[in-house]
Amino acid sequence: MKETKEFKTETKKLLDMMIHSIYTHKEIFLRELISNASDAIDKRHFMSLTDSNIPSVDYQILVEADKAKRTLTITDNGIGMSKEELENNLGTIAKSGSKEFLDNLDKNTPELDIIGQFGVGFYSAFMVANKVEVLSHKVGSDATYLFTSEGLENYTIESSDELIDGTKITLYLRENKDEENYDEFLDEYTIKELVRKYSDYVRYPIKTWVTKYDKPEKGKETEDNTHLELETINSMTPIWKKNKSEVKEEELNAFYKQKFMDYQDPLASIFVNVEGMLTYNALLFIPRKPMFNMYSDKNERGLQLYTKGVFILDKCKDLIPEYLYFVKGLVDSSDLPLNISRELLQEDRQIKKIATNVEKKILQELGRILKNDRSKYEEFFKDYGRALKYGLYENYGARKESLEDLIILESLNENKNITFAEYKEKMQENQKNIYFVSGKTREQALNLPQMSLLKKKNYDVLILKDDVDEFMLQVMKNYKDIEFKSINQGDLNLLDEEDAKKIDTLNEENKDLLTAIKECLKDDVSDVILSKRLVDGAVCLSSKDGLSIEMEKILKEQDSFAKAERVLELNPNHPIFAKLKELFAADKNSINDYASLLYDQALIIEGLQPKDPVKFANKVSELLLK
Ligand code: ADP
Repeated sequence: MKETKEFKTETKKLLDMMIHSIYTHKEIFLRELISNASDAIDKRHFMSLTDSNIPSVDYQILVEADKAKRTLTITDNGIGMSKEELENNLGTIAKSGSKEFLDNLDKNTPELDIIGQFGVGFYSAFMVANKVEVLSHKVGSDATYLFTSEGLENYTIESSDELIDGTKITLYLRENKDEENYDEFLDEYTIKELVRKYSDYVRYPIKTWVTKYDKPEKGKETEDNTHLELETINSMTPIWKKNKSEVKEEELNAFYKQKFMDYQDPLASIFVNVEGMLTYNALLFIPRKPMFNMYSDKNERGLQLYTKGVFILDKCKDLIPEYLYFVKGLVDSSDLPLNISRELLQEDRQIKKIATNVEKKILQELGRILKNDRSKYEEFFKDYGRALKYGLYENYGARKESLEDLIILESLNENKNITFAEYKEKMQENQKNIYFVSGKTREQALNLPQMSLLKKKNYDVLILKDDVDEFMLQVMKNYKDIEFKSINQGDLNLLDEEDAKKIDTLNEENKDLLTAIKECLKDDVSDVILSKRLVDGAVCLSSKDGLSIEMEKILKEQDSFAKAERVLELNPNHPIFAKLKELFAADKNSINDYASLLYDQALIIEGLQPKDPVKFANKVSELLLK
């Protein structure tokens, strides 16, 4: 019985796009169908290893052209599809890739890019065919079904008597029109080229009929003395099983794009052949741009896992640490049993060793890029730098040694991003610390009153912009034993001993005044001191070691009430301080208004709101009228 069914709305939309596609790379349809066929064989092969009822056969994918009928068929002896699977897999868009494709259609990406980016699997057949038949027999079942669609609204499904072990897809090619030549896909040469270009590494033989000359002497080649032979046209060695030196960069790029559905070449490819105690091959890629779903739940991290060339698992988390979530790739190990379960994988010592190795290789490659191709590294760091920073921050800085030299941060003096090593290199003679300012732009940083001394001494200052930066530095504590110092925290070690002592003495002498100010501000600050960092400015806000004011801001956004211990610093050399002293000597209560005004000023300098903006404004007005 033949049943006619209607495509689901979203499928129609996709089909409609394929039919009216002006995509210039229509040829990718063959890659898509062959890749489906190869997946189907993978599935069957995997089942046959664990289920004795499923026979293993000589796997192959057959591509046949019939010039008279203008059909192209792709036949595989893979797992096949049941009636329900034909409906669910081909009648609706269940598959996440195609669905995401559709979800993205309304955004601004041009159609061409999207097709290239995703490859749209089975539906791409409609770019070149106006009718598609899928004859399929699910392994282990006793029925065969034929799915037929002319692409528009409906498809039909009927049972069939035809014998087949797997799936046969027949494309009825469209008529040639203007420049659009569909006949070329029937051409032996084109088929061979396309298979080599897109599907060479497919692990099963892809065969097609190839013309052979009976009498090879030159000049005697006529139609009559040729015959056709079925020939395997792909090299079959998975690209990652080849020797590293044999694989060209273009090959790796093409493989990456096809396998991980990207339309751009990767930023970096890492090819690992390891032999010895631990034997495995790995191909790792850093996408040029974070994939659009990088941060969604759908983007599970993990590498594909193969063992002895057989596909085992799509996203093996245990192969890669969390902070390297953006790395795509695969690992093929020869030491793992085929039927290993997810639970066992977690415990597996081989997997752990491979993971450690893989991480090391990735970081080595990043180090290499940083050294040899700075602009490429900048590009990388813009998109993925945060990941490395989190890697450093995680586990109380356990990865410090392997990651610290991969971090770049903006430098005030150089006005570009530099590494800690480069900072160290340019440190001034008596400089004891690596200084940083956080949560400010370069311009803001330059104008901060607490910068004056650093500028005078020509000390460089790292400008931290990411919210993770300061947390990272706090976990790291130092770089090669040189401690990090926020220009806003603790003692900066900037004054020579004599000057520092002077300020200590002044602090002592003015204790009463400072205590009185502190008393006025007791809800807001934990200390009021004479500053060792101010040169021109009257006041600034700093915090005791530990949580900084910037960190407090960031934590607040995450609903944490952790507070920095704020310190109001006054410049003992500023006329304001002289004025305070004078007022305080005359009348101890006269300084209350000044205290809160000075604190508000310090808050504003820090980019914070005055405590009570209206009160602050009124007081300023009052002063202006005096
Ligand atoms: P994708 O292959 O990206 O999942 P497709 O639209 O190409 O998306 O295919 C949808 C589904 O149809 C596949 O996931 C697979 O389950 C099934 N399928 C497609 N081609 C074959 C085939 N040759 N043999 C068995 N199943 C297939």
